[in-house]
Parts: sequence; structure tokens; C-alpha cells
Amino acid sequence: MPSAAPLNPLVSPWTGPYGGVPPFDRVGVADLAPALEQAMATQLAAVEEIAANPTPPTFANTLVPLERASLGLDRVATVYGIYGGCLSDDAVQAVEREMAPKLAAFGDKIFQNRRLFDRIRAVYNARESSGLTPEQQRLAWHVHGEFVRGGAALDEAGKAAVARINQRLAELSTAFSQNVLRDENEGFVLVDDAAGMAGLPEQQRVAAAEAAAARGHAGCWAIQNTRSSVEPFLAYADRRDLREKVWRMFVDRGAGGGATDNHAAIAEIIRLRAERARLLGFPTHAHWQLENSMARTPERATALMEAVWSPAVKAVRREVADMQAVADSEQAGITIEPWDYRYYAEKVRKERYDLDEAEVTPYLQVDKLREGMFFVAARLFDLHFAPVPEGSVPVYHPDVRVWEVKDGQGRHVGLWYFDPFARRGKRSGAWMSAYRSQERLDGAAAAIVSNNCNFVKPAPGEPATISWEDATTLFHEFGHALHGLCSNVTYPTLSGTSVPRDYVEFPSQLLEHWLETPEILGRYAIHAETGRPIPAELVGKIERASTFNRGFKTVEFLASALVDMRLHLGPPPADPATFERDALAALGMPAEIVMRHRTPHFSHIFSGDGYSAAYYSYLWADTLTADAWEAFTEAGGPWDGEVAGRLKDSVFSVGNTIDPAEGWRRFRGRDVDPAALMRKRGFTE
Ligand SMILES: [Zn+2]
Repeated sequence: MPSAAPLNPLVSPWTGPYGGVPPFDRVGVADLAPALEQAMATQLAAVEEIAANPTPPTFANTLVPLERASLGLDRVATVYGIYGGCLSDDAVQAVEREMAPKLAAFGDKIFQNRRLFDRIRAVYNARESSGLTPEQQRLAWHVHGEFVRGGAALDEAGKAAVARINQRLAELSTAFSQNVLRDENEGFVLVDDAAGMAGLPEQQRVAAAEAAAARGHAGCWAIQNTRSSVEPFLAYADRRDLREKVWRMFVDRGAGGGATDNHAAIAEIIRLRAERARLLGFPTHAHWQLENSMARTPERATALMEAVWSPAVKAVRREVADMQAVADSEQAGITIEPWDYRYYAEKVRKERYDLDEAEVTPYLQVDKLREGMFFVAARLFDLHFAPVPEGSVPVYHPDVRVWEVKDGQGRHVGLWYFDPFARRGKRSGAWMSAYRSQERLDGAAAAIVSNNCNFVKPAPGEPATISWEDATTLFHEFGHALHGLCSNVTYPTLSGTSVPRDYVEFPSQLLEHWLETPEILGRYAIHAETGRPIPAELVGKIERASTFNRGFKTVEFLASALVDMRLHLGPPPADPATFERDALAALGMPAEIVMRHRTPHFSHIFSGDGYSAAYYSYLWADTLTADAWEAFTEAGGPWDGEVAGRLKDSVFSVGNTIDPAEGWRRFRGRDVDPAALMRKRGFTE
């Protein structure tokens, strides 16, 4: 008797403690492609069964099984995503190149299933008269909209055209990301005498020496082409010519003119997106992208950006004048250029606020701050964290640790995985992932979420200490994690952080504020050597410097966000480099600043559709954040139980089951007031 092929462990439901956990101990890279293929085939078969159902369409016989059908691929995609983001190497990248177009085609097959769409449309049209709960009506509205935006309502020729475009976009996006990654991995500036490293903190000098040795230049220093190596160099290196060289290398990622140049790919991506939007009945890609966002239209998103632009540029003028004054007083004989900005900003910070970043870092230990975040979760949301027993939950790397989360009655809420340190093969930046979304489709599934950062790993036995900015990032990502853990919904599609992109950063940005509270700093900002809490005087300096350099940060962000929006609003440019230059000139971009992400390496908008025409989302969400924080300060402080309760009930627990604008009004009692953002950034006169 022939035996059936064993089921790939990635496809089967997860087993083990806590309702099942990802089987990291039983899989490898070789399992990824077959598991994806198997899960896609299973889902397509399930979808076909729904579409072919002879009984009239209802919510229960159409949308419920459709939700269930995607859970298998969700499980595989979780592990596939972890390999791509945390364990990447040549083998994983080859799998990505192979699978990206297949996954795009798979998505199109589902969106373009005519009989399935007819059933979804029938359920959607009857949503208000068929006795559905508000959450079910919201799901019907959401799924119907996604199908329409995916091309479900087109004729056969239109569907084929959209599918062809999506195929090509998947290839182009994968190539775009891999080009940026190659420039970042391979580029470096070699410094061959110690004088070139003058001004840099010890930690950076050691890292640069190690990087040089690894590249066969022992005895020299290599500044790598990544943000974490470039930004400290620009902030501290005294040698101006080297700062310029490093700056040029970094801002030209993806623009070098060789095999990794992204300009042709960008032009094609923008053209294809515009064509797809037109096929789908939208005037531009930006209109297509924003239809379901909180902003709803490119005009409203642009209006907010433009309202902030002028005060931010004014703030930059003040910052540059301060820096020029320092340079003049030192008789540097220079005019501030983009490679001088971070360097002189540090000098102004020391002079004006007497704040030295290096003095703060020893108080910011990752382990202690993590306990501080748990304190915040307990006080605000009654969530309690405890490490799982050693070895009880498999992890994908020895650095990863896992905590169980319970509510105040001791009931299981979920799991939190924490992967704090940088390593080769892990993408840069920090992020949260939902391994399993909370839902109650067939019995209760508890949330499994993870936080990932790129902190420098300390020597064995040493505590990991981080900068103020990194500590803020740590709290930010924990905000996303709490958004996933607080979720209390029925349908997976509407769970946790599955909210519009310009809303999802609101809970995370809000959480950042608790770092600066006296309760957290007093108890958890403990000096790594002396064990003493951070002195009140130093906290005062941090507070006074809180709006420092906000002009720079806002302008470098907004320049990227505005160029992103314009690229996707007008006719596709033939030459993206010229377009970028002209758009910045039209904006009146200060000459001392460059976009945070120039188009040739703007991964948010070109590594996938994700943040395209949507990079403004961070600003939109920060408008909500600033106003929400004032709800706490007006009520008497960050620990006010009633405001925290409303925040949980109307924002953190509802996922996408209600319109975000409605959730916001329930929380705040009114629409958002953008003046709070101006106050937060110090843009009020
Ligand atoms: Zn975020």
C-alpha cells in the first residue's frame, strides 16, 4: 500500500503548550517552499468548495469558511516571514525569488474567482437585512472591498491584465529589496588611520575595527553602509571629508548606476501601479491605496502633511542658525551641509541642554526596561507577563525568549516572543509580528506576538544598554504587541493590528510616552554599573530636550512622505531621479537635509505595495497619538484608570471590528485636534 506523503509540519495545526506554538524545532529552509505550495493548494480547494456550494450564499456558508480557509497558509506564512526577516541567507533569498510571483498569482486566483465573488457580494448587499452582528457586517464590508480592490468585479480581460501586473510587480519588488540589501551589505568606507575615527565613541570604534577585519582589512576601520553604522559616524566623526564620503555612500544606496541601481525598477513599478489603479476604476494608485484608510483620500493626507511642512521648515531654519553659530564660534569656516547636520546638532544639544547621550545610555538596560514595559501593561491593561519554563516553547534562535501573558484573573491571554539583538541575516530596524491572531472562529485562539529589535548584543555576562531613541523604539514595538494581545474579536481578518495603516501606528506611538514617566524612569532606568536610578536632574534635561531637533526629524520624514504621495498621484514619471529633484525643489526642501529615504532605496514603498502612497501614515497616527496623550495629561496623568479603560475598550481591543474614526471618537469624545501634534513637536510659537 502506498503511504500518503507526510504532512509538512509547517502546514499542520500547531501542537504543544498554550494551544499550539510554531514548530521551529522541526523545520528548516527546505520545508518553506513545499509548505507554501501545499497550503496554497489546500486553501484553493477550500475556496473552490465555498464557491461551488449549491445553497444560497449566507454569512455562515461563505464568509465563515473563507476565514477558516486562510488559517493554514497564515501559519506557513508566519514561519516563512521569520526566515525572511530574522534568518535570511542565500538559500532563503532564493526561496523568496521563487515564491513571490507564485504567492501573487495565488492571491489573484482567489480575488478573481467569479462564483466566490458573487457569493461575497450577495452577503455584502444583504448585510443590513440578514440579522448580522455589527462585527459580521464589518467583515462583509471589509472582504467585499478587498475583493473589489483586488479586481474581482472586472471582466476576464481586466482580470488577466491585473494578474499580469501583479506578477511583474512581485518580481520587481523582490529585485528592488535585494538590490538595496546588496548595497547595504557590500558598501563600506575604509578608514586607514586612527585620526579618521576621532570623535567617535568607543563602541563605534570597536564595531568599525571588527567590520574592517571581517573584510580583510585588519588594523583599519570600516564604516558599513547601514543606518546603524552611518548615523553615529555622521553624529560624532570630527573628520568632515570622511563624513561627506560616508553620507554620499548612504544616500546613494540603489542609485549607484550599476547592477544594483533601482531607477528602472522604480519607473516600471510606478507605471504598473498607475495602470492597475485605472483598470480597477480609481483615478490614481494613491486613491486606490487610501480608500480604506482613516484619511480616506490623498487630498486629506496631503493637507495634513502640508499643514505641518511650513512650521517644520521654520524650525529647521532655527536649528541650522544654532548650528552655524556653533561652527562659527569654533572658527570652522564652513557652511552647514547635510553631512554636518547630525554632527553640529550634537554640539548644540550639549551646549543648550547640557545633555550628553553617552551619559544616558548606561541607565537604559534592555532587561530592566523590559520589566518596565511589563509594569505599564499591568497598570494600563491588567496584563501580566511571566517567562515560560525553560525549553517548553521552541525558538528559532538562541537569543529569542518567550513570556506567557495572563489577565488579572490568571487566565491565559497569549505569548510574547522577544528577539532583541542584531545579527547577520536579520533585517534592520525594529518590528512586531503576529504569529497567531486572537480569534474565536472555532473556539478561542490566543494571540502569539513577537517584538524584534537590532540592539548591539553585549559580551557574555554584560548587560545590554541602549540609547534613548532605541528605548523609545522598544516601547513603540511593545505598543504593537499590546495591540495584538488586547484583541478581543471573533474573526481573524479583523483581529488585533489588522487595522488601516494610518491607524496602526497610533497605539504603538502612544506607548512610547510611558518611557518618559517618572514611575518607569525612577524604577527601571537603573545604571548598569552603580545600580542607581537615573538622577532627576538628568531626567529634567531629557524632558527639556524633548522637542530638540524636531524640525530635522519632521522635514526628513515629510520630504519622503510627500515625494511618495506625489509619485503615486500624478502621471508616472519617466525618470524618477529628475522627479525627486523637481518635487523637492517645488517643496522648498532645505538644502541642509536629505530625504530620510530617497526613492532608490525607499523600501517602505517599493519592497511591496504596503506603505506606497501611505508613508504619511506615521504622521497621521502621530496626530492621534499627541491628542490621546493629552487625554491622559488632562485627566491627571499617564496612569488614569478611566482613560486607560476607554483606550482598551475603544482602541486596543477592537481590532478592525469598528471604523477607526468611530473608535477614536468613543475614546476621545470628539474628533482629533491637530493642534496637539504642533504642541508635541514644539512647532507653536
Ligand atoms: Zn510601528
